Amino acid sequence: MPPRKKTAVIGAGVIGLAAAWALRKRGRDVVVFDQGGIGSGSSAGNAGWIVPSLSGPVPSPGLIWKSIKWMLQPASPLYVRPSAVPGMSRWLWHFWKHCNAADYDRGLAAVAALNARTLPLYDQLAAEGVSFEYHKRGLLCVFRSPAYMEAVRGELEAMQPYGYRIPEPLGSAALVALEPQLRDDLACGLLIGEDTHVRPESLTAGYAAALASQGVTIHAGRAITGFKRGHGRVEAVLTADGGEAIDEVLIAAGAWSASVAGLAGVRLPVQAAKGYSITVPSGDVALTRPLYMAEAKIACSPFDGHVRFAGTMELSGVNTVLDRRRLVGIRRGVGQYLRSAPSPDAGVEWVGMRPLTPDGLPLLGPLPGLSNAFVATGHGTLGVTMAPVTGEVMADLMVGGSSPQALSPFQVDRFSW
Ligand SMILES: Cc1cc2nc3c(=O)[nH]c(=O)nc-3n(C[C@H](O)[C@H](O)[C@H](O)COP(=O)(O)OP(=O)(O)OC[C@H]3O[C@@H](n4cnc5c(N)ncnc54)[C@H](O)[C@@H]3O)c2cc1C
Repeated sequence: MPPRKKTAVIGAGVIGLAAAWALRKRGRDVVVFDQGGIGSGSSAGNAGWIVPSLSGPVPSPGLIWKSIKWMLQPASPLYVRPSAVPGMSRWLWHFWKHCNAADYDRGLAAVAALNARTLPLYDQLAAEGVSFEYHKRGLLCVFRSPAYMEAVRGELEAMQPYGYRIPEPLGSAALVALEPQLRDDLACGLLIGEDTHVRPESLTAGYAAALASQGVTIHAGRAITGFKRGHGRVEAVLTADGGEAIDEVLIAAGAWSASVAGLAGVRLPVQAAKGYSITVPSGDVALTRPLYMAEAKIACSPFDGHVRFAGTMELSGVNTVLDRRRLVGIRRGVGQYLRSAPSPDAGVEWVGMRPLTPDGLPLLGPLPGLSNAFVATGHGTLGVTMAPVTGEVMADLMVGGSSPQALSPFQVDRFSW
C-alpha cells in the first residue's frame, strides 16, 4: 500500500478541526498546528448558533451609511475604528462596494446552498462519536419594530428549497408566553424551529478528542513561522523549533490567515471583525432557547449552566484588545429586550476575531501559485454553522480533486488585488 499523504492543517479553530476530521475520515495522515490553545481563537466565546436561516453575507444594502454614522458611536452594533481606516482602506473600499442588493442576494444564495447540508452534517457528526453540547430548540428572533421582521422573513425565502418554513409572526403576548424573561413591550417575533445551537468550546474540545482517538496530533502552542517552498509546492511547514515535511497544507488560521498566507507570498483579503460576549450563570437569566435581539444585533444562547450574550462587530485591525465600551453596549442592548440585563460587573467577558472577507463569503479552495496549498477561512458570522460542511467540501477537494460548481463563489482568487 502507498504511504498515506501527510496534510498539515494550520489553525485548531472550528474550521481547521472540522477539516482535519473530514480529511482523516478520507484516510489522510493529518497534523494540526496552532499558535495558541485548541479552539482558543474566535471559536471559543461565540454564540454557537447553527443557523442556515441567517445565510446572508455581512455586507448588505444600506450598511455603508449606517456604518459611517456608527463610526462616531463606539457602542454601536458595527464600529469601524477611525484610526484603523488607513491601514484597511483597500479592504474597506471593496467591502463597501459589496453593500448592494445584487451582491447580497448572490452571496445569500451561495451560502444557503452550502448550508443545505449543515443540519444533517451536525447530526452525522454526533453520530460519528464527536461529543459536544448540542441543543435543538430553534431560534427565537425578537423585534422592537415590525420592519426588521419582514427582512428576516425575506431571507427565509431563500431557505425554503432546503426545507425551511416561513414562520408566522408572533405578538408580544405569545413571545412572553414562550420566554417569560422577555419584556412585554416588544413588537413581534419569529420562531425559526429548524435552527440549532452548540456550546462552541465543547465542539472544539469534542473534535480534538475525536481526532486524538484517530491518531491525529494537534500541536498546541506551535505557531507556523514560514514555509519551505520548491517546484511550485510547499515542501515543509516551519516552526520556531524546526519544521515538518508535508505533502499538502491547509490554511485555516481565521483572522490570522492573511498573515499566514503572507508567509507563502500570497495576499488574502481577510480582516478581523471583532465581536464580544458576556457569559453569566443561568441562574441570573433563565432562558430556554436562543434569542436574536434583532435591532441590537445581539445573540443570546442558553447553555447547560450558563447564558451567553454575544454581538457587535468592530473593524479595528487584527488584535484582541478588549474595548469595554462595546461590552457596555451589549449590556444596554440586552436591557431593551429582557426584563433584567446582566449587571455591569457580572459574567465572563470575551473578545474574538471573526475572519471577514470584503464580500462576506468564505475563501474555500487552492491557494494561488502553490499546487499543494489550500485555504478555508473568512466565514465571518457563520464559522460554527459552516464548519462541518467546510470540512467536507475541502476534504473532497483536497483528496478527490473535485471542485463542484457550488464552490465557485468561494474561489480564493476572486478579488482583484
Ligand atoms: C461574538 C461572536 C459571536 C459569534 N457567534 C457565532 C454563531 O453564533 N454562529 C456561528 O456560526 N459563528 C459565530 N461566530 C463566528 C465564528 O466564531 C467564527 O466564524 C469561527 O470561529 C471562525 O473559526 P476559524 O477556525 O476560522 O478561526 P479561529 O477560531 O479564530 O481559529 C484560527 C486559529 O488559527 C490559529 N493560528 C493563527 N495563526 C497561526 C499560526 N501562524 N500558526 C498556527 N496557528 C495559528 C489561532 O491561534 C486560532 O486558534 C461568532 C463570532 C464572534 C466573535
